Amino acid sequence: MMGHSHALSGVVGWMAVVPFVQGSEFLGLSFELGPGEIVAGSLVCAGAALLPDLDHKSATVTKTYGKVTETLGGILNWAFGGHRMGTHSFFFAALMGTIVTLLALWSELAVQIFVFLLIGIALQGLGFGLDKNRAASGVINALGTAAITLGLYAAGLNYTWLGVAVAFGVILHFFGDMITKMGVPIFWPFWKKRIGQNRGFVTNGPVEQKVVTPLLTVGVIVGSIYLFDWPTLLPDH
Ligand SMILES: [Zn+2]
Repeated sequence: MMGHSHALSGVVGWMAVVPFVQGSEFLGLSFELGPGEIVAGSLVCAGAALLPDLDHKSATVTKTYGKVTETLGGILNWAFGGHRMGTHSFFFAALMGTIVTLLALWSELAVQIFVFLLIGIALQGLGFGLDKNRAASGVINALGTAAITLGLYAAGLNYTWLGVAVAFGVILHFFGDMITKMGVPIFWPFWKKRIGQNRGFVTNGPVEQKVVTPLLTVGVIVGSIYLFDWPTLLPDH
């Protein structure tokens, strides 16, 4: 799948699980998800759904923060055995989830920085960067990211669920790759077979462009209507 489809799948995926995990406890972490947590979770999940492709030089996510993400991508590519290897495994999802959960327990500032960076990646993936003009695109993306992060910060969100959202977004990426004929070694390093290879539809082909991306977009709209109690969110209420 293309970057924007992966990012959209993160948004839709988070919206789809919210009704099920709402108000529950999972692994000792509480899931009190209000409107702010739903928005933050959707963007975090969208950003996380792009992270596995950091192992590829020309992926959207690798280009997002220039040299910083390129260097990180190079390290991940080396450490996880090349493109579409270790970063496309449950091991990587669990590792990311654990690191981010520890980060969330350790420092509120670290969480804010991490969320800011991940939302920047999400917006880039969703296509808010304008490809034709990279400088303008960078500025618009940075402003949008800063505005959203500040809004979320002001809302005083509870981020105990952050690591789970990241792990979930990473796992959604695997499904996106698998349905587009790209095998994913989800059991790496124990079993390196690429599951789902040559099954599904072509990346950025007619099915993805005309069916999957529109369906995901509709999913975002339906999810937004269903999850938010709109009348109470309107200003004059
Ligand atoms: Zn991938």
